[in-house]
Amino acid sequence: MNWSEFSRWGSRISQWATDYHTTLRERPVRAQVLPGEIYAQLPAQPPETGEAMDAVMADFERIVMPGITHWQHPRFFAYFPANAAPPSMLAEMLVSTIAPQCMLWQTSPAATEMETRMLEWLRQALGLPGNFAGVIQDSASSATLAAVLTMRERALDWSGNANGLSGQPRLRVYTSAEVHTSVDRAIWVSGIGQDNLVRIPTRGPLRGIDPAALDTAIRADIEQGFLPCGVVACTGGTGTGACDDLAAVIKVAKAHGLYTHVDAAWAGSAMICPEFRTLWEGVDGADSIVFNPHKWLGAQFDCSAHFIADPESLVKTLAIHPEYLKTHGADGIINYSEWSVPLGRRFRALKLWFLIRSYGLEGLRERIRNHVAWSQDLAKRLSKEPGFEIVTEPVLSLFTFRLAGKSDSDMIDYVNRINADGRIYITQTRVNGRIAIRFQVGQFDATRDDVDAAFDVLREMTGAN
Ligand SMILES: *Cc1c(COP(=O)(O)O)cnc(C)c1O
Repeated sequence: MNWSEFSRWGSRISQWATDYHTTLRERPVRAQVLPGEIYAQLPAQPPETGEAMDAVMADFERIVMPGITHWQHPRFFAYFPANAAPPSMLAEMLVSTIAPQCMLWQTSPAATEMETRMLEWLRQALGLPGNFAGVIQDSASSATLAAVLTMRERALDWSGNANGLSGQPRLRVYTSAEVHTSVDRAIWVSGIGQDNLVRIPTRGPLRGIDPAALDTAIRADIEQGFLPCGVVACTGGTGTGACDDLAAVIKVAKAHGLYTHVDAAWAGSAMICPEFRTLWEGVDGADSIVFNPHKWLGAQFDCSAHFIADPESLVKTLAIHPEYLKTHGADGIINYSEWSVPLGRRFRALKLWFLIRSYGLEGLRERIRNHVAWSQDLAKRLSKEPGFEIVTEPVLSLFTFRLAGKSDSDMIDYVNRINADGRIYITQTRVNGRIAIRFQVGQFDATRDDVDAAFDVLREMTGAN
């Protein structure tokens, strides 16, 4: 492809992107294909000779688009949002054009320095104190892995990387049953092992860790010769939005010298609104906090903000210095690849800069406040509707509900019917062992009408009407 062709196609694809976004409501939210349908349409062998972009683009429309679930659809109420606001998309177009590798300061100083500044902006936006330094990780899973590795190394006096875990005391990490599976995987990958991830019982409507039970578990483990190394707490757990009492949990952790990591991957975005910060009261005392601007805030995936109170311990855990990565003669610089597991890094700060400058914090807050208000209204309407029962009350914009008197398999049928209908998209979870439907409002372009439409669909699809 020559550059004049590129220019033509670039314009066409920008137009395509605009048309796509402005007609999204007409498409079914979840892809309506069967397993294997897309695969079967892709030739078994790669072409030997080049094809015209017209042909490629036509096949993209014909083969690929039917197999897309539309995460940017305003009636996407499943999982959590993965918003890509228009200014963030534009920044990503620029980044994919320049395609820099931002592993070291010198491999693109602008990317490193913009990242430092953007994380300072986000830290202030969230109301976190100035002792936190930030880095962008590719995902919350990576941030949690980095935090768990830091816990491990700190507890082993920085000997785990060198010596491995065999012959070491058995490490213990404490968490609740409400945290995301990325915590389990961090425990596997770090070599700590699932059996050493201790689930502390939760209590109260927010399903937070019982701090007294945490203290008891840590003491019992110490007595038995285990080496407790950290606590992973959550603000806004994935299933129902569980929130630990961070002040109490961190107090117990600190009394035993443990490292604390807070997973606020989804709910963190809402903390740009001061009125929601009671949900993570005490977060100031954490050692590590992760939240995903690539979920609710509008910075397109991937963009996970990881704040650390003591970056030295993270760098001590992850930095590695072969000669080919040394940058001689540049003092006082940050090489962010020393703060994360992967070496290569995309220029992810640019989309934050475009996003925050375009909307201002007030513009972003307004969206989140609307989502929370609309979701809470919907939960209230459903609670008054015969045949519906709220299982967990809204935490920010997430609540769960059930159809009264229906079995788990009836509930799964109901979810499948709704998603096959295509007007809205929802998913389920388990609460106290039983299926409940999750509903969250968080899509960047969602309106109150979209949430009202969801109410109608939810009612209509019960089959009662
Ligand atoms: C989405 C989510 C994660 C995983 O985020 P990734 O960035 O996809 O790794 C972890 N924890 C919570 C609470 C989440 O909502």
